[in-house]
Amino acid sequence: MRVLIVMAMHAEAEPVVRELGLKPVETPPWAAPVPMRLWRGQIGANEVDLVVNGQDPETGLDLIGTQAATASTMLGCEAFKPDLVVSAGTCGGFAKRDGSIGKVYLATDRVWYHDRRVPIPGFEQMARGGYPVADFSEVGSRLGLEPGVVSTGDSLDLSAEDSERIEEVDAHAKEMEAAAVAWVAGLFGAQFTALKSVTDIVDGPHPPEEEFFENLKQATENLAANVVGFVNELGVRT
Ligand code: SAH
Repeated sequence: MRVLIVMAMHAEAEPVVRELGLKPVETPPWAAPVPMRLWRGQIGANEVDLVVNGQDPETGLDLIGTQAATASTMLGCEAFKPDLVVSAGTCGGFAKRDGSIGKVYLATDRVWYHDRRVPIPGFEQMARGGYPVADFSEVGSRLGLEPGVVSTGDSLDLSAEDSERIEEVDAHAKEMEAAAVAWVAGLFGAQFTALKSVTDIVDGPHPPEEEFFENLKQATENLAANVVGFVNELGVRT
């Protein structure tokens, strides 16, 4: 199987590159202007590749959110022709749904957008996403991952409208990339799933931007360990 991991931030990706022993791959000439970066590796019988968003040329900051995730996934799919695409990263969790810092969710059901509102028949449904997630529940339970519904939007804060959408799908993980990754994976005929590690509690007492940095190290370590565990488990025949 060919597995493509798609990650937003350098800090999230660095331990995954190290622990999987991935090697950098040159960006194809047609993609020279984009800041996305590629890596390739082999884990057991599986080819495991990685695309990371890279930095915004204007600000030097890590690119996050759906527009960068779309471009990254397209580049990764074109370069590596994956069978499975995994959106891996951090997320906000929900105390009311048993979320806690460092918990890692494996996506389940469908992945949604919570910030795209187009009240025109047909377009509304398209805007909400609801892209299918492949069933890796057996791998997930072997690794002790929590199944969770993932919901995507382009803001770190939470508006009342976004919150309503998140509650409609009982999302466990609020983040900024997965639905975009899932959409492109679907276009390329690849399966999709997501692994999301909690950095902040959306319905807790602290603002996400404070909790995010406090917990980024713990969350990324847990994420890397589980990304490695997940790709190793894919090679295990049951
Ligand atoms: N401010 C940070 C990065 C932004 S945090 C910086 O300057 O580096 C947003 C990133 O973490 C996104 O990639 C998103 O997918 C994830 N994330 C973590 N917690 C989130 C939350 N509560 N809401 C939305 N995205 C979250």
